[in-house]
Amino acid sequence: MKADLLIKNGLVVFPKEGVRNVHIGITDGLISGIYSSDEEIESNEVLDASGLHIFPGLVDTHEHLGIYNSVEADFLDTKQHAIGGVTTIVNYDRQVESYLDFFPKVQEIGEKNSYIDFTYSLGILTEQHIDELEETVERFGLTSFKFFRNYERQLNDKFKINNGIDLSSYDLMRLLEKLKSISPKLLLAIHCENMDINRKLISKYENEGQDNGLKTWSLTSPGYAEAESLLSTLYLNSIVDGNVYIVHLTSAASVDILEKMPWLIEKGVKVETCAHYLCLTEDSSVGLNAKVGPPIHTMHDSDRLWEGIKQGWINAIGTDHVPNSLKTKYSKGEGVFDALYGFPSVGSLLPIMISEGFVKRGLPLERIAEITSYQPAESFNLPSKGRIEVGADADFALVDLTKKKVVSPQLMYSHSDYSVFDGFEAVGWPVYTISRGEIIVKDGQPIKENGRGKFIKRLI
Ligand SMILES: [Zn+2]
Repeated sequence: MKADLLIKNGLVVFPKEGVRNVHIGITDGLISGIYSSDEEIESNEVLDASGLHIFPGLVDTHEHLGIYNSVEADFLDTKQHAIGGVTTIVNYDRQVESYLDFFPKVQEIGEKNSYIDFTYSLGILTEQHIDELEETVERFGLTSFKFFRNYERQLNDKFKINNGIDLSSYDLMRLLEKLKSISPKLLLAIHCENMDINRKLISKYENEGQDNGLKTWSLTSPGYAEAESLLSTLYLNSIVDGNVYIVHLTSAASVDILEKMPWLIEKGVKVETCAHYLCLTEDSSVGLNAKVGPPIHTMHDSDRLWEGIKQGWINAIGTDHVPNSLKTKYSKGEGVFDALYGFPSVGSLLPIMISEGFVKRGLPLERIAEITSYQPAESFNLPSKGRIEVGADADFALVDLTKKKVVSPQLMYSHSDYSVFDGFEAVGWPVYTISRGEIIVKDGQPIKENGRGKFIKRLI
């Protein structure tokens, strides 16, 4: 059979397995064959990938499009994802209204404007959300949801709603049970942070007038506050035998839990960290631009997170990408307690991981592919994404490991005026990005129109 496109002579990075010099055939947007380099394959088009490493397209399952800008504006800004090799995202949203009413609206906006493929994880906030779970799963093909331990007993005050659930340990248990009863494939993403400790410490330091930038921010949520919440979450999950994904791990204390209690993470548990916890510290010159919850801590914490990746206790990297501008970030003031949470960061994920992980720390390329594509896809029930095998979607990032560029909003075509990695010199930029067999980035430039991205309906 004649392939539509043949990618020849590249060094293909197979997640977990290793790097091999093979040709990849693509037909109808899918990988149709993987051939040894001496085989002659017929194709309509050939892409010579000599000198390039071919990664699976990145799957970023931790995004927050539509928080500070309209959903439409943030989907229009997904060319920057493609420039960085990200071909699939799972976006978080949370609303008080029924998701049966809400979701079709954002799905339509995404389909009209996204440059890359997408789906959603929805935050469970109300009794109605729980009652309508099964219908939400079946009607929209949504199979991942989010639980905020950081808003425990706070919804009705914070969001001024009167039907919010407590987000207590009891709610966590009944939600895990409910998800499992619908399908074991359903996933609960969980923010672990003991907010009793966090809120008291914020009040304490704020009352004392302490403002030492990220250092003060780090003190408001010490590693033990995350580790305690992580421990209780993993323990409760082990009782239910549920399927959980711990988002954005930040601390050495939490890595200690994963290391010392392997029985808690043996089954049904995936753990994510983010590039900013690996590569920035409370001393970084980026300052409060990198204010985020939970906070960035110390070099020791970063070192332990890298160790967690090496040892396999941490399985996935997300970006926690929050598109905003500096003006928005500091709209309430410039003090540590005024700056808003979150920052943009997505487009530089792969070059940062290659530069800081592979070049600096010897993390194998196949492990980087595994934690940035395969494991996120596997965790979030995206069987056609994040892998290089016959039948999978032909999504790739073709990377030049020698090309050095400095991260900047201009480079990323981002609508935001900053990212926390601005000024980072990184190698490993995609020369081409391919999505479902279509070249969407060439020589680092987006070459297609918005609206080509597809909503991915997930099956249970
Ligand atoms: Zn987040």
